[in-house]
Amino acid sequence: MKNIILIAPPGAGKGTISNYLVEHYGYVHVATGDLLRCEIAMNSELGQEIDQIISKGYLAPDDIVIKLVLKKLEQIHNKPFILDGFPRTLKQAEVLQEIFLQFHLNNITAVYLDVDVDTVLKRIEGRRICNQCQKVYNIYSEELKPIHEGLCDNCGGVLVKRSDDEKEKMKIRFQIFKENVESILNFYQSRNELQVIPATTSITDIVDKIINEAEV
Ligand code: AMP
Repeated sequence: MKNIILIAPPGAGKGTISNYLVEHYGYVHVATGDLLRCEIAMNSELGQEIDQIISKGYLAPDDIVIKLVLKKLEQIHNKPFILDGFPRTLKQAEVLQEIFLQFHLNNITAVYLDVDVDTVLKRIEGRRICNQCQKVYNIYSEELKPIHEGLCDNCGGVLVKRSDDEKEKMKIRFQIFKENVESILNFYQSRNELQVIPATTSITDIVDKIINEAEV
């Protein structure tokens, strides 16, 4: 069972797919967006600094994100994990490689979810997250709708729209993604660890392809 690095544009379904892999295959979900939002929710000085940056759609500084990921990977020990939203820069990919060496981890597959901008914008329009447990829903998808409108199936938390999902901020997030993704894909391609999966089909179909690549 390989550890999975999930690379995709904002709104491609990384969170939903990760949740599925967690529930059905026992992966630990390491999502840097969630780690950062958690830091913001604590309202620490660092949380406030992060909030200023990510609520505008910009990337958090590499050193902050790397520290959060390192801490999380230390906590989960040898359990298989799925990295969602990290690396987002070449620098992060390079440091991640050093972390893997340090932890003696070489069982890795980097999966790129290939999806066009229009599909992604539609998904983001309908995306809601639970304000308690962060579970992701989509009000336009039969597969991903909550059972009771506006409430989380898991914990009864309130479903909200993410502040960085507004159109103008999305444009910034896409632009930043485009600027960085090629160098990250080249990095994993050169290591023979990259798999490209079209992400316009159903969640279960995408998950099937991922678990095949990850030899689950
Ligand atoms: P996500 O939940 O993955 O869409 O991430 C939400 C926001 O958190 C992103 O738009 C970035 O501002 C920030 N973020 C998440 N992961 C990273 C990362 N690896 N590096 C820098 N910023 C990140």
